[in-house]
Amino acid sequence: MQVRLARKYGFCFGVEDAIETAQRALNANEPGKIVALGPVIHNRQVVENLERAGLDQSGDLDQLEEGTTVLIRSHGVGPDVYARAEQRKINIVDATCVLVKRAQSVVRQLHEEGYRVVMIGDKNHPEVQGVIGYAPDVIVIDKGDDLDAKLPLRAKLGIVAQTTHAPEHVANMIGLIAGRPFRELKVVNTLCLEVVRRQEAAVELAREVDVMFILGGLHSANTQELARLCREEGVATYHLETWEAFEPAMVHGAKVAGIAAGASTPDFIVNEFADKLRAIQPAP
Ligand code: SF4
Repeated sequence: MQVRLARKYGFCFGVEDAIETAQRALNANEPGKIVALGPVIHNRQVVENLERAGLDQSGDLDQLEEGTTVLIRSHGVGPDVYARAEQRKINIVDATCVLVKRAQSVVRQLHEEGYRVVMIGDKNHPEVQGVIGYAPDVIVIDKGDDLDAKLPLRAKLGIVAQTTHAPEHVANMIGLIAGRPFRELKVVNTLCLEVVRRQEAAVELAREVDVMFILGGLHSANTQELARLCREEGVATYHLETWEAFEPAMVHGAKVAGIAAGASTPDFIVNEFADKLRAIQPAP
């Protein structure tokens, strides 16, 4: 069948940096002496490759021995983790993405300027959990119905967003916040353009094809967002990790398939998927 790839997909510079940093750290440390405090990126295949190379990605800072090296992944961590590591003489290799670092320092600065910080994001996402550590009592919201319960009235609010959120969702949330009584609002754009470009490319492609495949980790927030945006375009959309999850019924009646991938999806997964899909004969 005919297969088209999104004009932008796959690894962003933050993920590439994180994987290279992890590989350098593995080469520079004895086996077992370098650990990450969670999967380096939200992609099972990459995580398994790093595990095979000797990187433990289920580290618990409080259980590590003195002299161990801890790898901070691209999602970053709160300041308490750096402080605890220093206290316990644990070395740090920092793979936090520069854009996440920027969001962290924006939050700190907004607090220093007297704003009550509001972060539009998923409170369970590791990036959000790290960023909110840079100011006290950060309010995390992700839905319109959260607002009355969470936002103080007539306050001076400083707003940031999870880097991987879609601009439209963030704009809607800002509109809802601005519709309530406030004293002052300051919005700092912390969205990642790498993610936005992948979203635009996926939506553009979704308008041209009969079926869309979004490839990448099922827990990857930016990949889930790609699938959501394509579904909103009204095209049948499947979010799959790899070719293993493909079923022929997914392309029944389709002549042209589109493929897009999240910022943590390696090219080999996309290439394998595209090759196998091309080999399928469309139904007459
Ligand atoms: S998606 Fe953007 S913010 Fe996240 S790691 Fe990649 S470049 Fe950094």
